[in-house]
Amino acid sequence: TREITVDAASTEHAEKIVQAIKELSDIKLIDVYDRTFNLHRSGKITIESKIPLKSQGDLAMAYTPGVGRICMAIARDPEQVHTLTIKQNTVAIVTDGSAVLGLGNLGAAASLPVMEGKAMLFKEFAGIDAFPICLNTQDTDQIVETVKNIAPVFGGINLEDIAAPRCFEIEARLRQELDIPVFHDDQHGTAIVSLAALINALKLVKKSFEDVRIVINGAGAAGVAIARLLQKAGAKSIWMCDSKGIISTNRPDLTPEKREFAIESSGNLADAMKQADIFLGVSAPGVVSPEMVRSMAKDPIVMAMANPIPEIQPELIADDVAVMATGRSDYPNQINNVLAFPGVFRGALDCRASTITTTMYLEAANAIASLVKPSDLDREHIIPSVFDKRVASAVAGAVQAAARSEGIARR
Ligand code: NAP
Ligand code: MG
Repeated sequence: TREITVDAASTEHAEKIVQAIKELSDIKLIDVYDRTFNLHRSGKITIESKIPLKSQGDLAMAYTPGVGRICMAIARDPEQVHTLTIKQNTVAIVTDGSAVLGLGNLGAAASLPVMEGKAMLFKEFAGIDAFPICLNTQDTDQIVETVKNIAPVFGGINLEDIAAPRCFEIEARLRQELDIPVFHDDQHGTAIVSLAALINALKLVKKSFEDVRIVINGAGAAGVAIARLLQKAGAKSIWMCDSKGIISTNRPDLTPEKREFAIESSGNLADAMKQADIFLGVSAPGVVSPEMVRSMAKDPIVMAMANPIPEIQPELIADDVAVMATGRSDYPNQINNVLAFPGVFRGALDCRASTITTTMYLEAANAIASLVKPSDLDREHIIPSVFDKRVASAVAGAVQAAARSEGIARR
């Protein structure tokens, strides 16, 4: 008899293996574990001290009485908090757990593994110490109040997985009230990377933002932010759709953000897509058919970014599109926010920007797009890989330059 331990990739995988082993008499199963659960045991991040605590002397400087003089220095000159504390390199990842990944309203505790993961990405790609703050409230006023109250510790606030339309008001109010960058990644991270991909896709099909008609399916956090940024990049014709079809002026049910994009035309998604140049999906799995794609204009660009299952599977329309992108790592052209947010915060923290502006988003997108050299640009390479180490520093540089030109850099 042989004894084995099974390292499974998922619960279903483990169950299959257990079933198969039961049918073999010479093997004794001693343990089955799910490697993803194993990886999460006791969490994924930790806090470490930067200086040794070996002697009385160390202790007397790092803690009392030495630290008291540092406190007094900051009390006298509050600006010193930026140089004498962790503030300069620390970001709060704030969520209310209301829109966790594509999983929905899971609440604060269940969102923590995602926020820990986000903190890992901040550290890995930009050397930033980010800390998960999962709030036990989904009330706009309480969220705004809480974030304001914890802000002294942080150099920036990354809002994460907060449901639309509440996310728009929370971000707008915090921007008004805080003097540090506030950035809702599900909005602007997505918008920056989508714009970067489109800049390069348009080069391939030799069209410009001014000339194309763009359909955006999904008018939530991502859709609204993408539409706003594409307008700043020069897009003149954007048709937004939500679960009820084209967002048209005659609809009585529109939120202020949707009303911003309402057009005269009405109809469903299929109507919107006829003769459109670009389809951007940030909506739901499988809502686009191959026929809809075939009804688009010549050389259509399709970015089906619903996660984990896109609006349409790439293999269904491989021959019908000029360029195809998804949010997935197992297809070419992955649209992933990690190309944007680490560099955006790195740049903003490095120059101690007081806020984050649309110009910074545009410059970040240009920086990402320009990392794909003209000789490498083709329909399967419109965007750098998420592991391309040049991305975060290029984005950070572009964001810093924009902050300086706009006069909001404080260092
Ligand atoms: P959200 O705020 O919940 O918004 C979802 C939007 O999609 C809503 O406007 C909703 O319509 C619309 N929608 C839902 N079902 C639809 C359908 N069958 N047809 C048309 N529209 C439909 O979510 P979000 O944060 O914007 O994210 C939306 C999707 O994009 C998710 O799948 C997410 O994973 C994906 N995403 C991907 C990336 C990436 O980088 N790849 C980044 C961000 C988001 P109503 O307003 O009528 O309810
Ligand atoms: Mg998110």
